[in-house]
Amino acid sequence: MTQVFVALGANLAEPVSQLNRACEALLSLAAPGSFSVSPYYASKPMGEVLQPDYVNAVASFDTELTPLALLDALQAIEAQQGRERLIRWGARTLDLDLLLYGDMMMESERLTLPHYGMKARSFVLVPLADIAPSYILPCGTPVAALISTSMRDELQPLTSED
Ligand code: ATP
Ligand code: CA
Ligand code: CA
Repeated sequence: MTQVFVALGANLAEPVSQLNRACEALLSLAAPGSFSVSPYYASKPMGEVLQPDYVNAVASFDTELTPLALLDALQAIEAQQGRERLIRWGARTLDLDLLLYGDMMMESERLTLPHYGMKARSFVLVPLADIAPSYILPCGTPVAALISTSMRDELQPLTSED
């Protein structure tokens, strides 16, 4: 059994509902009692594409799935929720990135672990620290050490009324 962290992002077709649905689907991959999810945050899109703001969160759970089987499962959930890959960093109904698979470090055509962008992305680090405040990355860096005040300022916590 391995503890994994998955980043969730959506900016089309009722993003909050997309994340709620994705959490239901992730729950079915999780060992009983192991699932947790951060608060949801609104964030500005990365890159130059004009598109709606994102809703982001990070989930954690324990699973027996291998890394590639888990990636397959995440991509199947994206597909179920109508994900289309049109342009890089373009709008999407759902993006599920595998951030961490235990302490595994690997680089293959389909899967890089830890996720290559996670150390620089506020919408990943802040929710990750919400659910795992003292987590140490496989490289030895504590997640908390990567978070600056300006990163927190980039995110808008969502309340249940949003
Ligand atoms: P970014 O990867 O910069 O966050 P993106 O999420 O929009 O951008 P996608 O189109 O969703 O990019 O994914 C492109 C490819 O990345 C996928 O086909 C997948 O095989 C590969 N990939 C490599 N490592 C990972 C990972 N850790 N989690 C998810 N996908 C990964
Ligand atoms: Ca992504
Ligand atoms: Ca992705």
